[in-house]
Amino acid sequence: MADAHVIDGKAIAAKVRAEVAANVARLKRDHGFVPGLAVVLVGEDPASKVYVKNKAQQTAEVGMKSVEHKLTAETSEAALLELVGQLNRDDTIHGILVQMPLPKQIDALKVIEAIDPMKDVDGFHAVNVGRLSIGERALVPCTPSGSVILTKSVKKDLKGLNAVIVGRSNIVGKPMAQLLIREDCTVTVAHSKTRDLEGVCRAADLLIAAVGRPEMIKGSWIKPGAIVIDVGINRITGADGKGRLVGDVAYDECAKVAGAITPVPGGVGPMTIACLLKNTVEAAEMQHGLPVTEFDVSSH
Ligand code: NAP
Repeated sequence: MADAHVIDGKAIAAKVRAEVAANVARLKRDHGFVPGLAVVLVGEDPASKVYVKNKAQQTAEVGMKSVEHKLTAETSEAALLELVGQLNRDDTIHGILVQMPLPKQIDALKVIEAIDPMKDVDGFHAVNVGRLSIGERALVPCTPSGSVILTKSVKKDLKGLNAVIVGRSNIVGKPMAQLLIREDCTVTVAHSKTRDLEGVCRAADLLIAAVGRPEMIKGSWIKPGAIVIDVGINRITGADGKGRLVGDVAYDECAKVAGAITPVPGGVGPMTIACLLKNTVEAAEMQHGLPVTEFDVSSH
């Protein structure tokens, strides 16, 4: 079988950002306001610092207001909750993102629950989680949302597909399941206690890997022609002693069997920030009582 179609996450994320930029310009022109995103970083985690820098840069590039709050690793929970409260009350801020992980003296759940659900652009607040699960409009977590856009770039109608998600985290696996139920897929969520994971994966027309284990999913686990979306980002040391990023899927062997596959890097990764920006536009529209822009994801 020929190698799989490679889903170009970088190019698709650029299209989403262009659509966001056009909507930001329209909101400014027709309604006189600019969506604003505040990102809060507590501590010095190197990966988090890179994410926050990229988020701020891309927020500014689409014409939005970008605000960064950098707090020391010793910041108390009360001080962080106070800042979240201030951002909740600030009319120029429509989206609030507190970068995880947080230092151990801070209860992450308490912080998430303190964010106004209308400004919860990560989609982690219980109100948004609940709204997503009952099929109401919600701010949806960015990585699963981006994964659905990538899937629909190769197949617009997912109705009836057997979708298998490996991983059941609150930030990826569970919201992914909700989104795919909404797309009329038949959804299986696998995890570390799943029996015969290989057999479960081999039944998937659409396989989403969100495990955090480098190259765990092998070519022999893939149904011929399946769509494979690799959410995993794992840093490993190659045979040459150099560090490199790999996904949860053994890319080379899976690409020989799959119909379409996302690479790592350059697949799901770039979509996460693009969807964060998209959520900020939606949040701003909701807060101004405007109809929410339907991003035409199938056109990407
Ligand atoms: P997580 O919270 O650690 O969850 C991992 C899930 O994988 C858990 O449900 C766990 O099962 C399951 N699992 C672990 N080992 C397994 C095994 N041997 N067989 C089957 N299932 C297994 O991870 P996460 O936050 O969802 O992230 C998953 C991956 O996605 C990571 O590589 C992360 O870096 C990446 N990620 C990427 C982005 C992006 O922007 N592209 C965003 C977020 C995360 P149990 O529940 O039974 O423990």
